[in-house]
Amino acid sequence: MALTRRDLIRTGATLGLTGSALSVTTFTAAAETNPKVWTTAEWAARPPKESIEVLKRTPAYIVVHHTATKNSEDLSKEQAFKLSRAIQNYHMDSRGWIDTGQQFTNSRGGHLTEGRHRSLEIVRDGAHHVRGAHVANRNSEVIGIENEGTYTTVDMPPAQWNALVDLVTFIARQYKIKPSEICGHRDFANTQCPGDLLYKRLPELRKVVGERLAVPVTQPKSWPLLRPGDTGPRVLAAQHLLRDRGERDVPTDGVFGSSTFAAMSRFARSAGLPDEPCYATAVADESGLIGAAAWPLLIRQVDPHGDSDAAKAARALSAGGTVVETQDWRMLLEG
Ligand SMILES: [Zn+2]
Repeated sequence: MALTRRDLIRTGATLGLTGSALSVTTFTAAAETNPKVWTTAEWAARPPKESIEVLKRTPAYIVVHHTATKNSEDLSKEQAFKLSRAIQNYHMDSRGWIDTGQQFTNSRGGHLTEGRHRSLEIVRDGAHHVRGAHVANRNSEVIGIENEGTYTTVDMPPAQWNALVDLVTFIARQYKIKPSEICGHRDFANTQCPGDLLYKRLPELRKVVGERLAVPVTQPKSWPLLRPGDTGPRVLAAQHLLRDRGERDVPTDGVFGSSTFAAMSRFARSAGLPDEPCYATAVADESGLIGAAAWPLLIRQVDPHGDSDAAKAARALSAGGTVVETQDWRMLLEG
């Protein structure tokens, strides 16, 4: 059957896709003072197990994480150093990495520390990239900042926010990274990181950094993150899509319960989705969350009038809601 464009169901808005088109970006800002970053030598890091890999390229994205550790009331520099050592020990001894995973760490008190060795020196150089370990499969193109704390339900302290703005501005200037390429970990993976509250502030972060660098700011598109307790048409669509991919045990009730989590977890394993290397979030089981790593594997082109589970997903998303057209190919469930 030949299908016209009118037959296409565009589900971007229903899935919560937001954003706008890219525009030309230029970097014309005047020089600013760089933020104080305590080096690995200053916080007494262990030497790396192997020599640091320095790539002859610049990173494309700045990735914001939270450590998912407790929201310490200790805002001292000593706490920042202690945290840096704890993360390095965990990454080297438990994860088996050569050094700290992320390039930078930002404490609750806003004390910035170098994570992986040489990261500060190489960002200052501006033409190379220290390959870290903080977003699975993307480490050649991402530079990461771990923010101490858990920002799922509370906001970060002002000093920490200001330090984050300063550091992101510095990195974006050095590498000419556009504000639209400032991301959260969840933009790449099925994870809650960097927490709902911090993630919701990323548009503000892009805006402030853009103003500082005097470059235009656009907000990128993002995938919805579904998790246990969520209900509604997106959950129902995801359940149909999981069934469409062979997970027959998932219910189709629009309620994200334990069997939906288990089904997604199995699907993630069979699809070879990697274990995500966050700090404390790596301890919690997030394998059944449905986020940026899952959607591209779940959606497919579909005849929305058909009998397939994917067609039911398309109908679930359009039922009762306004289907707004988007040109984003990622979000099409089309026939
Ligand atoms: Zn993370």
